Amino acid sequence: MSLFTCPFCGSRNIEEFAFHKTLPNVPGGAFETTFLRRDAPESSDEHWQHRYGCRAWLRVRRNPSSGDVLDVELLTGTSPPGVAALRGGP
Ligand SMILES: [Zn+2]
Repeated sequence: MSLFTCPFCGSRNIEEFAFHKTLPNVPGGAFETTFLRRDAPESSDEHWQHRYGCRAWLRVRRNPSSGDVLDVELLTGTSPPGVAALRGGP
């Protein structure tokens, strides 16, 4: 069982999260990120959402070969519903 550590909810089963996309690992525009992408079996940066939890968007660094989660961080500018209101935001 794989666990992600949500910054708001703590360690949760990966089944609570929804994969969105793999982030480009080369700088540049659409051509570079599509056709010059490097395969990196030891590390992949991905966007995930804690769909069945706080619904926060996360940047997750995983080892796609083993499935190990290396790092989880909140995407800048995102917060789960209700948190912005507690902070006095919209
Ligand atoms: Zn969460």
